[in-house]
Amino acid sequence: RRASFAALKSVAPTTRDGHRVTVMVNAGLRDDVAALDLTGADGIGLFRTEFQFLVSATLPQRERQQRLYKDVLDAAGDRPVIFRTVDIGGDKALPYLDHDDGHDEENPAMGWRALRLALDRQGLMKAQARALLEAAGGRSLNVMFPMVSEPWEFDEAKALFEAQRAWLVSRGRKQPTEIRYGAMLEVPALAEVLDILLPKIDFLSIGTNDLTQFLFAADRAHPKLAMRYDWLSPAILRFLRRVIEPARAAGIPVAVCGEMGGRPLEAMALIGLGIDRLSITPAAVGPIKAMLATLDRGRLMTDTAAWLTNPPPDMRAAFAQWASDNAV
Ligand code: PEP
Ligand code: MG
Repeated sequence: RRASFAALKSVAPTTRDGHRVTVMVNAGLRDDVAALDLTGADGIGLFRTEFQFLVSATLPQRERQQRLYKDVLDAAGDRPVIFRTVDIGGDKALPYLDHDDGHDEENPAMGWRALRLALDRQGLMKAQARALLEAAGGRSLNVMFPMVSEPWEFDEAKALFEAQRAWLVSRGRKQPTEIRYGAMLEVPALAEVLDILLPKIDFLSIGTNDLTQFLFAADRAHPKLAMRYDWLSPAILRFLRRVIEPARAAGIPVAVCGEMGGRPLEAMALIGLGIDRLSITPAAVGPIKAMLATLDRGRLMTDTAAWLTNPPPDMRAAFAQWASDNAV
């Protein structure tokens, strides 16, 4: 199997009925970029910029951030990289940063983290914006904001980047040729105001790790809960459909960048829901490409829609049966 996955490296991910799927990888450190060549992925769909902060003993200064982003862009070449602004706090606390401003957080995952922290500590966000904008001088930049919970948070974050861009322009510095701004959808409340968000964004990426933790009110790292709720449950799949359909109808590219997309059966269900962009852990690229090649996407979408209207008692078993019935 391993050898055959490696052989898929240069094969474009395509379903049996000819639909091209974009398969990107998740990364976070400079060395992770090697995964692009090793797997033949289409790009980096989630670059977790907080990793540099997590492995550093002190707050990484702007110059260090900029060097990393430039190295990553250089290594990626023509392949797109989506940089996610820092998602610190929650399960990613930094020893050198006062995360709670003196208040102990009882629920750090739901606490002062990610964009919430970044919008309050604008010095941090401005430095990162400058680092990204300068690193991408002369080429295109994709920026994505984590934990967007209300559309105004996206507006504020984008405005902060645009102000930094204007500053660079006023100094005659090189700036990106084009900037695309995206939001992560991982807080369920955002789905309720998606119609307000969609006209503002250039792309959407669903973070199923946090999203499912919040949908089921189940800590994503709790060992006793790890097996309890299924990514293939009707609740999750229906929720995802509610997000994917309006985004597609509005012509906004929508991806899934949580771990769910790296599991063949789950990824199959996502394709059934109309997803055609995945960003996954590099080791999953081969298995996912192999799975995609077996799919009649048209039929899968029809059957998935029917199952969501009328859920079978065991959704996972239904998808598994579908996969084995349709295996080529
Ligand atoms: C997610 O929440 O699904 C996600 C991709 O981000 P992270 O795992 O870094 O929280
Ligand atoms: Mg997340």
